[in-house]
Amino acid sequence: MRETFLPFSTPTIEDAEINEVVDSLKSGWITTGPKVKRFEEAFKAYVGAPYAIPLSSATAGLHVTLLALGIKEGDEIITTPMTFASTVSMIILCGATPVLADIEPGTLNIDPARIREKITPRTRAVIPVHFAGQSCDMDPIFALAREHNLTVIEDAAHAAGTEYKGRRIGSLDSISIFSFHPNKNITTGEGGMVCTADEALAEEISLLKFHGMSREAWKRFAASGTPNYDILLPGFKYNMMDIQAAIGIHQLPKLDNFIQKRTEIATYYNREFADVAELALPAYAPYDQRHAWHLYTPLVRIEKLDIDRDQFMAELKKHNIGSGLHYKAIHHHPYYRDHLGIADSDLPVATYASERILSLPLFPKMTKEDAADVVTAVKAVIAAHRCTR
Ligand SMILES: *Cc1c(COP(=O)(O)O)cnc(C)c1O
Repeated sequence: MRETFLPFSTPTIEDAEINEVVDSLKSGWITTGPKVKRFEEAFKAYVGAPYAIPLSSATAGLHVTLLALGIKEGDEIITTPMTFASTVSMIILCGATPVLADIEPGTLNIDPARIREKITPRTRAVIPVHFAGQSCDMDPIFALAREHNLTVIEDAAHAAGTEYKGRRIGSLDSISIFSFHPNKNITTGEGGMVCTADEALAEEISLLKFHGMSREAWKRFAASGTPNYDILLPGFKYNMMDIQAAIGIHQLPKLDNFIQKRTEIATYYNREFADVAELALPAYAPYDQRHAWHLYTPLVRIEKLDIDRDQFMAELKKHNIGSGLHYKAIHHHPYYRDHLGIADSDLPVATYASERILSLPLFPKMTKEDAADVVTAVKAVIAAHRCTR
């Protein structure tokens, strides 16, 4: 057994990031400033988005995007049950109603056919999540959106570097929201980015994210600025700081290499687990795409074992292997179970996945030996708990 604990994810922070943060700390300019602008420009160029708005988190990005679109009480927003809580929580905090459409069995991405069934005259937007870094099939989603006059907001928290039919996520005809939480494909500590081609929407989001102050207001204490400012509407305090962007500036050029490393490990897992009947491996969608492999999420076929998924994760931990849970489906959390009134039978695919899914260690710094230790531990747990009935 390995001697040290292997976490399911850990960020790759090197001297360049550390030195850039120290430079900010010593410069006298810590909060939103020139480094946020540099990171914004670099990210915009990388994904191919006309406008990008840096924020304190993707959750903040979802919040101000929904408000900027005028989402309010009585509106319905269709999204997936296989996501982080904030996707759904922000809909609720805008006063609107989240409507969950079931997922596809293999990719665990939202199923366009199920979206269609959930559309009503109150539906305003759909929020697909590019689960685990694999692009949703966007063409049918855009077709539905055109047909029913819906806004498409991509929750791209897993999808920095993901491509769909030759285009980077962030450059499609929609709004996309990225996260730079430490577990994501690149990090700024905490942070997020909203990308859009809609200039008026970008302006509104910029106002909402920082006190409703006009766009370049951060300059007011710099030599080039004036101390005066105007509040154009009541806004939040969701700005990204320069000490966060300092990290991002040096993460972004490494993103393609990070994805390459993630892909190698995922490919290795797929090969090693191909014959393991107790695991259902993540499916690779047949359309032209680049999977960013943010997560590696097999389903444990608990009906073939004498332990459940949570016990499986506890057993892995005894072998010094960490794992993550992405995700217990939204309708299985107490708040949403009580407030959305969704039965398991309404979302059979998500319900099935929710009880079986786990995230195995997957991050760029992992070595071949680390990955081999994961495979050994997973196979050992299965061998010890195989049902003999
Ligand atoms: C991480 C994540 C978020 C939230 O991102 P933050 O930057 O932590 O606010 C939203 N949706 C999904 C799918 C995520 O994985």
